[in-house]
Parts: sequence; structure tokens; C-alpha cells
Amino acid sequence: MTRLVLVGAGHAHLYLLKRARAFVDAGAQVTVLAPEDFWYSGLATGMVGGRWAPDDDRVALEPLLAGSGATLIRDHAVAIEATRIQRANGPAIDFDFLSLDVGSVVAKLPGLDDGDPRNFAAKPIATLSALRKAIETSPRAARVLVVGGGPSAVELAANIAAHPNARVTLAASRLVPTLPPAAGAFLERRLAARGVTLRLQARVARIVDDAAWTDLGPIGFDLIVRATGLMPPPLLASLGLQLHHGALVVGADLAAPGDARIHAAGDCAAVAGARLPMIGVHAVRQAPVLYQNLRAKLHRNAPPRRYRAQRHALLILNLGDGSGLATWRDFWLAGRAMRWLKDRIDRAFLARYR
Ligand SMILES: Cc1cc2nc3c(=O)[nH]c(=O)nc-3n(C[C@H](O)[C@H](O)[C@H](O)COP(=O)(O)OP(=O)(O)OC[C@H]3O[C@@H](n4cnc5c(N)ncnc54)[C@H](O)[C@@H]3O)c2cc1C
Repeated sequence: MTRLVLVGAGHAHLYLLKRARAFVDAGAQVTVLAPEDFWYSGLATGMVGGRWAPDDDRVALEPLLAGSGATLIRDHAVAIEATRIQRANGPAIDFDFLSLDVGSVVAKLPGLDDGDPRNFAAKPIATLSALRKAIETSPRAARVLVVGGGPSAVELAANIAAHPNARVTLAASRLVPTLPPAAGAFLERRLAARGVTLRLQARVARIVDDAAWTDLGPIGFDLIVRATGLMPPPLLASLGLQLHHGALVVGADLAAPGDARIHAAGDCAAVAGARLPMIGVHAVRQAPVLYQNLRAKLHRNAPPRRYRAQRHALLILNLGDGSGLATWRDFWLAGRAMRWLKDRIDRAFLARYR
């Protein structure tokens, strides 16, 4: 029997998990290796701010896979060699075909230990549910320092500011440099109006005790959120295949050119020649291509489908006050209607998996 292993239950694999029965019906033995449920990034910042409950942002894997014949193993892959996946807490898994959707991680900050209870990161999203709890249970208004100036950092700061038990500071070199300048200036004013203390041109170099040291001096904090940008997880290096800035290089068919048994999608994949940003939009749109190509491999018939990335994506930032900031190419628009549109898109996506 052909062994198909899906590692990670992220935005790209969700579509495949719902359709796992089709792989089993095609004669495959399907194993899903995933340490946690699916967490949706679109609602993540609203979940931290209290608009959504953690369960609104999560899709449990067991109901999704029920009756599919696939086996779910709750564990991490720690290394992948030849035809074998080493696990953190159990025996290795052998595969004939492998699909990776292990997402991305955020860089560490010098001086801040992984196990430090004040240390949170924008990824994995489940961490943000723990951040919300830490804010809620803080004995006094928690000084929350968000480090980073990209869209995730801005959304996080704006939404954490909605929490009555949080005082938010955002430290970054610059604020969303990819935005049109007028939209950046609007964002700066809006964050200030939300009560977020902005420390720009303040790159955090090191954590010492309860302060983050920047070019402008120290910033005290009780809780710190690392949102300095996403990068692929180190696991991929163990494959011994071509990487691009840490992501596994795949063709437009989402298979590795050096080993056609191995596939990847989402943040952990670098589609050759495409230079895609790490946004959920690509992970979600790659999913049907990945699904079809894996099925074609199992049947050894249909020609592969190719992922054609859209050149521009609509992105809507949740500003935490009932409004949103939408960007499309060089256009931007802010207001309550944008937030309504974002909620509608996000809720419709999740409804497909519940
Ligand atoms: C706060 C925040 C808000 C965002 N908002 C948006 C947005 O509104 N729109 C948008 O397009 N993008 C958004 N993004 C970006 C988006 O989150 C990512 O692009 C998207 O999650 C990528 O999906 P993925 O399928 O690659 O991985 P993920 O959805 O991140 O899933 C990866 C999965 O792999 C699992 N995993 C990791 N390592 C291992 C391992 N070793 N073994 C087994 N499993 C493993 C993890 O548990 C996780 O479940 C946001 C990001 C952040 C941080």
C-alpha cells in the first residue's frame, strides 16, 4: 500500500484533510502528523483582542478526519531523511509520498529564553491564545511590548490595545513600509488614537531583565510579543534538498525538483520563480493544486496542475476598533465596511471546515 504522510495541519493542508477519504479510496495509507489543531490567522488578532473566542479561531482535526480512514498522530516532525520522518515523541514514520505544510516561525530575540513565560510570538497562532490568557490574568494592567513593524505586528498592537487590561507599546524600525505612504501615516495616527505607544526607529537588539534595549534606550515590559516577520522552520534543512531563504524550493506543481515524492505548500514552500510573500492567501490557493497533484501521483495518471500565483492580493488589516484597512496594489481604503468585508471573508472560509 502506498504510504502518504501529511505533515502539519495549516492553511494549505486543511483542504486536503477534509478530502483525506479520496486518498484512502485511491489505495493510500494516509497519516497526518500534526501537533495541534488548525488555527486560522485571519481571526487571530481579533481573538487576542477578545472579539472572537479561541474556539472561533480553531478547527479541531478529529471531526474533520472522522470516517476518512486517515490516521492522526499528534506530534512534531523533528527530521526528515530519505523515506523516514523522525518524530519528537514516538517511532519514526516511513513514507512513499510526503506533503509538508509546516508554516513559519518568528526569529528569537537575544536574551529571551524560549521557556520564559513572558515570551510570545505571532506564530504559531495557538501561542496567541495563551497571550490572551496571560493578559486577562495579569494582576495589573500588563505592559505588552509588540516587537516588529509589519502587518501582523500592527494588527496585534491594535487589537491587544482593545483589551482593558493591557498597555501596548510597539517597537519597530519602520511601520509597514510596503504600504502607500498615506496609508502608513493613517495607520500611525490610528494606532496612536488606540492608545498604542509607538517607538519607531527603535530596533530591539537585546532583552535584559524586564526591558528591551533599543537604539533609543530601554523599553520596560511585562509581556513581549515577537512579530518581526516570518521565516520557514529549521526542519526543512534536514531534507537535504534545495532551499531558498530556508523554504523548500518546489516547482509550480508544488513538488521538489530534486525529489518528486516530496511536496510542500504555504509559508514553508518557495515556488521557483514566484517570490511569494508569506500570506495565507497563497497557502489556501495552493491547496487544490496540491490535492490534485498528490492524487495524480497516487493514480499515476493525470498531468500535474500548476500553481499560478495571483500578482496582487487583497489584504485587510483588522484595526481592533471595528474598522479595517484594506490594500490592493497601490490603493487603500479604511473604515467599518472594510472590517465587515474581512469578517465576512474569514467567517465564510472557516464555515467550510465546520
Ligand atoms: C498574527 C498574524 C495574522 C495574519 N493574518 C493574515 C491575514 O489576515 N491574511 C493572510 O493572508 N495572511 C495572514 N497571516 C499570514 C498567515 O498566517 C500565513 O501565511 C499562513 O498561516 C500560512 O499558512 P501555512 O499553511 O503555510 O502554515 P500554518 O497555517 O501556519 O500551519 C503550519 C502548521 O504546521 C504545524 N507544524 C509546524 N512545525 C511542525 C512540525 N515540525 N511537525 C508537524 N507539524 C508542524 C503547526 O502546528 C501548524 O499547525 C498572518 C500571520 C500572522 C502571524
